[in-house]
Amino acid sequence: MSNHPIPVIVASGTYHEVGLQIGSQCKTQIQNMLSHLRTSPPPNKTWEQTIAQSKIFLAHSRAIYPHYIDELEGIAKGADVSFDEIFVSMCEELWEGGAWIKGCTDMAARGRATLDGTTLIAHTNDLSENAEDDLVILKIQADAEPEFIGISSGGVGISAGFNAAKISLTGNQLDSNDVRPGVPRLLVVRAILGSRHLSEAMDQCLLPQRASSYNNVIANGTGEVYCMEGSATDLEAIYIEGDVMAHANHYVSAPMRRFELNRADISNSIIRHNRAEYLLKENYGKITPDLLKTLLADHAGYPTSICKHGVTSVTVFSIVIQVEQLRAWIGRGFACETEYFEHQLEPYQLA
Ligand SMILES: [Zn+2]
Repeated sequence: MSNHPIPVIVASGTYHEVGLQIGSQCKTQIQNMLSHLRTSPPPNKTWEQTIAQSKIFLAHSRAIYPHYIDELEGIAKGADVSFDEIFVSMCEELWEGGAWIKGCTDMAARGRATLDGTTLIAHTNDLSENAEDDLVILKIQADAEPEFIGISSGGVGISAGFNAAKISLTGNQLDSNDVRPGVPRLLVVRAILGSRHLSEAMDQCLLPQRASSYNNVIANGTGEVYCMEGSATDLEAIYIEGDVMAHANHYVSAPMRRFELNRADISNSIIRHNRAEYLLKENYGKITPDLLKTLLADHAGYPTSICKHGVTSVTVFSIVIQVEQLRAWIGRGFACETEYFEHQLEPYQLA
């Protein structure tokens, strides 16, 4: 696995202009992603039927986030592909349940848990192995939003990032039993990265019209960290306890357990969640960005370890974010082999 840096795509302007710039620079990645999706529509559906079903998601999305639809239209035009297909690629919910073989493990530490008291978020992102080929880092300044850095496989849906207003977003896929037509969770992620305040980011997670939800791990520059552990119809905001927090791919709060799609299928997530929590507690008071990079490479429970080598997904990138300093270290491939590259944003000036 190679350690060359993930390419950085820079775009700025109106939402539509940002979309055009992303689309033209990520044309190859987007066309790869769409050709893969066309050959793997949801079970018992054709690609055309999938597009038809996405129309109700689109109607909800246009009503709530018309500016992000404008951005997606720009992406389609810039990449010379159909908007309908770009929008379907944002609707993971159409493939549920459990068809997206995603993992991800998150660790957060702040205050007394970190060596210098700063807030640190660490995340491994697990996808199918071929997703690594199409990774890009989007550096986006859209309209009056804070500039953000987001990591994407393909250039359209974003997996993790942080913005110049000191809002960070990582998180984990959850498979819930209440998925419904609505605003796709990937559009909610885009909106979180456009938020200026923690409450604004939280409001996106709580959007009543959402089709489903990730566990969105959001943090801000004053050291507040939450797991917004959501499904389509409910959400528990889990606050960082004792200055450390871990999360993987199953519901951990008591109120949300009833939404777990398949409780027989969460063993590898349980192992990663508990191991991450143990590592944070073991290193309490000593946690630094470099230490987190080594914790992300942990192999306890291999191959379904925090640095995930299988069975259905593998770690395709990892990220450590120092929220107050607007700095992040991003590495492609397995966390145990990667080389991290530093990325920085200038602070956003609140109007
Ligand atoms: Zn590894």
